[in-house]
This record gives sequence, structure tokens and C-alpha cells, in this order.
Amino acid sequence: MNLPGLYIHIPFCKTKCPYCHFYSTTDITSVDVVIASIVREMELYAGEFDTFDTIYIGGGTPSLLTVQQLDVILSGVHKHFLVPPDAEITIEVNPADGDLAWYRSLKDLGVNRLHLGVQSFSDQALTFLGRRHRADDAFAALDNTVRAGFDNFGLDLIYGIPGQDLQSWRKSLACAVSLSPPHLSAYQLAIEEDTPLCHSYRRGSFDIPDEDASLSFFLETSAYLERSGYHHYEVSNYAASTSRKSRHNQKYWDHTPYLGIGPGAHSFKEGKRWWNHRSIEGYLKDLALETTPVAGDETLSREELRLETLFMSLRTAAGIDLAAFRLKFGEDLPKERHAIIQSLVDRGFIVVNDERISPTTRGLAVADQLALIF
Ligand code: SF4
Repeated sequence: MNLPGLYIHIPFCKTKCPYCHFYSTTDITSVDVVIASIVREMELYAGEFDTFDTIYIGGGTPSLLTVQQLDVILSGVHKHFLVPPDAEITIEVNPADGDLAWYRSLKDLGVNRLHLGVQSFSDQALTFLGRRHRADDAFAALDNTVRAGFDNFGLDLIYGIPGQDLQSWRKSLACAVSLSPPHLSAYQLAIEEDTPLCHSYRRGSFDIPDEDASLSFFLETSAYLERSGYHHYEVSNYAASTSRKSRHNQKYWDHTPYLGIGPGAHSFKEGKRWWNHRSIEGYLKDLALETTPVAGDETLSREELRLETLFMSLRTAAGIDLAAFRLKFGEDLPKERHAIIQSLVDRGFIVVNDERISPTTRGLAVADQLALIF
């Protein structure tokens, strides 16, 4: 059994990006109170979880925090839980934040992986996305990352931005690759309900790529990055080597337990999922009463767990581990789903061997639909 992962949600941003649906607020007056409560929440879970070998500080914008504030959080982690010396400790960084001294201090705190929200190397695209950084900030952030001695870091990029075509996207990819990040994530711009971007899309302010164009972006991204030496190991994720895959994110994809701390954070353990209040007020109120700030929970049925296992496995290049699936759900997929599997093989969506059913790149492009067919 893999060790659990710890996610810590920092619910603050300097400005809100119009496409974003993550929980955060631009009112930063309660930062220190929330940090103290995050540590208090850890204490409440100390009996239920004891060791984490991945820690991921995300948000929101964790890079808004000072070194002292991050120290309070990480000291809290070490006080309440065991963290093996080889644990992966990641923090998300907005390229607009931090100077070299701040990056160096992160290393001193034990952070060993950075995830930089670059999103684009085009100032025009960054303006559309409402980001508060520009391409030059991304280059400076990369420079600081390397100069501070980080050898494990990744960049987030977004494609499908209005006005972007395959040629300009290829330029962004070339720019990213020239900086040699060990990890890259490439997401299609999603129009999330109830975001300012969604309202403006509904008003007809801009177009987004249709299904065929989306597929072209996806396939081009995969081909370009594979040619550049990256392994396309999950729908949106690429690693320069096995050791540079995100160890933390892999826990989300294989039902390894994880604990989410902070407003809006989600957790999973033994088939049960629970989530915290998506409001700082509700979060602080529960913790003031010495109660875990849980807003809701659900216990997955065997069928739901089965479907999620298929769904998440088919989003990874490794695919479905047939022996593990048989052990868990008593189902011999190649035998019991022979006809559908053969048809998906014939159509080039999956490959099958004695041990695994794995999606091809084309299969990864439609991974969510594939799971429903099984
Ligand atoms: S900085 Fe990140 S978390 Fe904050 S609004 Fe923008 S996308 Fe969302």
C-alpha cells in the first residue's frame, strides 16, 4: 500500500483570473488566522493519518506567503506527521512572486519541487487569461528556480486560448522545451460554470476550438513533447524521466489515500471522500469549535469505485493493471469484455497485453469516454 499524500490549500490570490473555479479570495486580511487554523486542522487529523511521503502546497497562490508563513505550515506538518527524508514536497508558484532569496529560502524549508503557473509565453494570451504576470516574469521565475538549485520543477501551460492557432501554440511549446523543465502540464482552456470567462463566452465575446480543433491541439502537444524527449504519462502531464513524474498527483489517480487541509480541500481514504467548507468563514468557525471543517462526504459504492478506477487508469499511459483490477473487483476484463476491448483495439484507442490495458495517444484524448464504454 502506498503512503498517503498531504494537500494543503492556500485560499488567497492577489487577483482573480476570470477562468478560474478554484476556491480563493483576494481579501488577504485573514492569512495568519487561516495559517494557524491549517496547523490546527492537521492536529485534528494526527490520529487518523501518521505518515505522508508527498506534500503539495497549492491554491490559490501559496507563493503569496512569506518564508515565515510557509515555515509555520511546514513546521506544523513535521510536528503532527512523519515525513520520510525522501518525501516529495511541492509548492505552486506564480511567476510574478518571489525573488531569488525567497526561492532559496524554500529550499532551506525542505521544499524540493516547484510547480510554476506559467500558462503561456505570449503576453497577449496572458492578458486574455487575466494573469498578473507576463512572459518576462516566467523567464525570471525559471531563472530563479534553477539558480536556487531546484532540479525538480514543472510548468503549467494552457492551450485553446482564443486567437491561438497550432503555429503559435507550437511556439509556446518550443519556448517551454528550450527551458528544459523536468515536468510539463498542458491543459485545454476550460469554460467553467459561474466564472467571469463563462459569462463572457455566453455573451458571445469569443470562440473556443471545436472538437476537431481541440483534438488537433491535443495530438500536436503530445507529438511535439514526445519528440522533445518527454513521456506523455497522463492526459495533461509530461515528464522528462520517470523520477520527474508528479508523485503526489499519481496518488489521486490510483486511489491512494490523501488528506486535504485548508478551505475547500478534498480528501480520500478507504472509499470515502470528504471536502472542507469552501468559505474561510465556515472553515474558521468549525475549527474554532475544535471540529474538522468538513462540509460534506460520500462513500463510494463498489460500482462507483470500479468506474473511477477505470476512469482514472485510462487517463494514464500505464492504463489498467489487470491483475490488481481482478483482485479488487473480481472481474477478468479481457475475458468478460472481450468484444468491446477488441473493437477499441481495432479502432486504435487502446493496446492490450497480458498485464495491462493501456490507452494510445488517441485513447488518452477520449479517456473519459473510454471508461464509460467498459
Ligand atoms: S492565480 Fe491560480 S488560483 Fe488564483 S485565480 Fe488565478 S488561476 Fe485561480
